[in-house]
Amino acid sequence: MTDNSSILAKLNLFAKLSELHDENPFKYKSYTTAAFNLKKIKEPFVEMDLQDLLTIQGVGKSVTQAMEQIIQTGSFPGLDAWLQKTPSGVVDMLNIKGLGPKKVKVIWEEMGIDNVSDLLDACRQNRLVETKGFGLKTQAEIMKAIEFSMTSQGQWHYARLLDKCNTFKDEIKSIFPGYKFEYSGDFRRCCNTINGLVCVTSIDLMELYEYFEGLELECEVEDDEISFLFEGQIPFTIICTDSLDFERVLFETTGSKEHLNMLDYQQGGHIGFTTEEAFYQSKNLPFIVPEQREGRDELEYNLNDQHFIEYGQLKGVLHNHTNYSDGLNTLKEMAEYAKSQHFQYLGVCDHSKSAGYARGLDEDRVEQQMREIDELNAKLLPFKIFKGIESDILSDGSLDYEDEFLAKFDFIVASIHSNLTMSEEKANARLLKAIENPYTTILGHPTGRLLLMRSGYPIDHKLIIDACAANHVAIELNAHPYRLDIDWTWIQYAQKKGVWVSINPDAHEKMGYHDMYFGTLAARKGGLLTQNTLNAKNLEEFEAFLMERRKLKNLI
Ligand SMILES: [Zn+2]
Ligand SMILES: [Zn+2]
Repeated sequence: MTDNSSILAKLNLFAKLSELHDENPFKYKSYTTAAFNLKKIKEPFVEMDLQDLLTIQGVGKSVTQAMEQIIQTGSFPGLDAWLQKTPSGVVDMLNIKGLGPKKVKVIWEEMGIDNVSDLLDACRQNRLVETKGFGLKTQAEIMKAIEFSMTSQGQWHYARLLDKCNTFKDEIKSIFPGYKFEYSGDFRRCCNTINGLVCVTSIDLMELYEYFEGLELECEVEDDEISFLFEGQIPFTIICTDSLDFERVLFETTGSKEHLNMLDYQQGGHIGFTTEEAFYQSKNLPFIVPEQREGRDELEYNLNDQHFIEYGQLKGVLHNHTNYSDGLNTLKEMAEYAKSQHFQYLGVCDHSKSAGYARGLDEDRVEQQMREIDELNAKLLPFKIFKGIESDILSDGSLDYEDEFLAKFDFIVASIHSNLTMSEEKANARLLKAIENPYTTILGHPTGRLLLMRSGYPIDHKLIIDACAANHVAIELNAHPYRLDIDWTWIQYAQKKGVWVSINPDAHEKMGYHDMYFGTLAARKGGLLTQNTLNAKNLEEFEAFLMERRKLKNLI
């Protein structure tokens, strides 16, 4: 595996192991910095000239050399040397969120625990509480992190699979032209994370099997199904069926059990319908798009004459970072690229001053950026850059600048980035105060979750959405495929309450805008209508929206 994230994981692991073994920080700190900064590069490292990365902070010759070796051999000598000295269970512990090398060192050396399941046991028996540096709170956090990593195994982010799945489908279609081949299951339903892949095809089972044999792909055949590990790790089942039955099998394997039950669908009892549309019609129901077939409230909200949001309908890109804070591209590059992609406006929201880790902007830097925005706006007409900020919501719920200064921005995305470990009560109170701040326009990534990595702080979604409605605050659907936060399951509630949803890429480089595609899929899954999508407004409408808000808040 030499995709970008696994290469960076190895650089990070090297730094963590160095710290674990008391190495001089001088020898490994740059690896952590490099791995952090290189995360923003979307282009595969394997296709790049790594020398081009040397301008990035933390990336020196030793780092690019290590990367080259990882690409060629899967590892590098410095990492191998540490791995030889460290039990594999201890390495696993380093991958648990919230457990840094210092704590792992105590657990391993002082408590004699060298694997994750023993650590979980020790937590359950409260043994960590008695150790110096660990309290009840840390112990509970470690336990939660271990449990979370255990349930996340065997799942993949949708976005990580999409390109690979499309390539595979194209390959199969070119080898077997004229046959039907379609993904099904949770992948076709565009779930945020995927358990495994299923597809349906009209290709003859034996022909397909022979083709896989030719590729030396290890696969199993049972009845009319072929199973194998896709990319060596993802369970993949191909169901071969008669061309006439293709739509029926596709339909049966796409919707969740709950959706099929809702339709009174009997397996095998509805033979021979030619299209999915025809089936819904026979039941006197509107056609339900595959991504919504979850068995929740999709039959209630699929009414006539409504339009679910599509990627091509987004007119603006809100919530983006430039190299003023932790983005890779300049303001000018971000703006020109947005314009070239036919967006009508761009919302620049670099980090606010408390976000020291992300080079958050103090007042002077904000004013400098605002001057540059004015200059660019004069040149890029009719395209417009809006002056925004992603203001940290501080521990007490306040925003990161004085009111007089907040008034200078066109709009503000308020997000929590620090002290993420908190009770639901505390999280609610913090968010409510930020939502009630008249300057808050959009609530950013409401739970702070990272799918398959971090479950996010607990919040009372209804309470928060109600507060957004009462205070005319829009809610972000953060489109980064690891966030997709607010979760799609809350979109209907937000819509009922009249809350605008903004599909924001949170781009840290210009190509990041395209993540809005994944945000749109999640939004459609929750049934978000175009008319309720904030950034589907055109420039004039968005300006009018901001003006209206100011009036409502008595800010002008
Ligand atoms: Zn953020
Ligand atoms: Zn952001």
